[in-house]
Amino acid sequence: MKIPTADPATFALSDWQSFVSEQGHKPFRARQIYRWIHHRGTFDPEQMTDLPQDLREALGELGLSEPGSVSFVYEAADGTRKILLDLKDETRLECVLIPMTSVGPDDDDDGEPVGSRVRVTLCVSTQVGCAMGCTFCASGQAGLVRGLRAAEILAQVYVARRYLKESEDLRNLVFMGMGEPLHHYDETKRALDFLTDPDGAAISPRRITVSTVGLVPGIRRLGADYSGKIGLALSLHAADDETRSRIMPMNRRYPIAELMQALREYPLPPRRRITIEYTLIRDVNDSEAHADRLASLLRGLPVKVNLIPMNSIEASDYRGADQDRVSSFQGRLAARGYSCFVRTRRGDEVSAACGQLALKGIAPERLVRKLS
Ligand code: SF4
Repeated sequence: MKIPTADPATFALSDWQSFVSEQGHKPFRARQIYRWIHHRGTFDPEQMTDLPQDLREALGELGLSEPGSVSFVYEAADGTRKILLDLKDETRLECVLIPMTSVGPDDDDDGEPVGSRVRVTLCVSTQVGCAMGCTFCASGQAGLVRGLRAAEILAQVYVARRYLKESEDLRNLVFMGMGEPLHHYDETKRALDFLTDPDGAAISPRRITVSTVGLVPGIRRLGADYSGKIGLALSLHAADDETRSRIMPMNRRYPIAELMQALREYPLPPRRRITIEYTLIRDVNDSEAHADRLASLLRGLPVKVNLIPMNSIEASDYRGADQDRVSSFQGRLAARGYSCFVRTRRGDEVSAACGQLALKGIAPERLVRKLS
């Protein structure tokens, strides 16, 4: 059998079986390597201490190594930890550990500790920068540097687990960091396949949420590929095409009516809901009329709504909604029967809004693509 030339960090189990056989080792070594990577979370052959030395050396020669190294970990007073990974091509990516959060896919995940354990959500990036061009977002303003390889997506999960505290459990993964996961579908799917593989990271798909600006073909693919088991979050941010196109250029390609149709057809399992993300921007989308429009738009859909007072960013003149506007917006939705949470701005002091930290220090010439 021929060894594939693909990235060894994301070899399938069958690829490892071919590899160990060519190296003259017993078949069970393949599963050992696979579990070291996806269960124990290391890509470094030297850490794989129960493998024979010659096999570890062969793995090194094959090119198996950590996709990135941790350059900084910033911890906020509320326990939010932002982890910056330096990749081999000198780009930088970020992921954020958020304790006791309500942004995960669980309807029962109310942010309370379970017994003495603390639930933690990891926010994962799929691209360095982003091409979607949302006008209120740091990543959107800076543009796309590049998509991440599946191994670089996986590395965020495997590395972040090392930064959990004794009392914490990694409960949810949310693909809500830098980038648009459905704009980078193939590598995102490869990572999801390893994360949900019972022989791999063995994370239940219901603990994973993929967030999108509303790329309709991607929503349909995700629904079909995972039978709706992967949670879906939609960054909606406005309930009319005029406002939404102004702050989210991608709305011109997939307007709201088309998007709502894709949501209605997403094959959600019973009792699951789609998360609607709505960033409240002062004097743009935060009035009671906007709330009423949102309530009408979502009628009949199984959703919960997360309201996010906007983080101010250097690259934009937009400002977050005032507290009284946030409260009245939430009240209007709640009065119409919607589950509606205000997401607290966890980790403001570590710049946990997407893209704010990792893009600092990237030379402009590395920002290769930006939607106009
Ligand atoms: S809000 Fe999300 S999709 Fe929009 S530009 Fe920022 S990272 Fe990209």
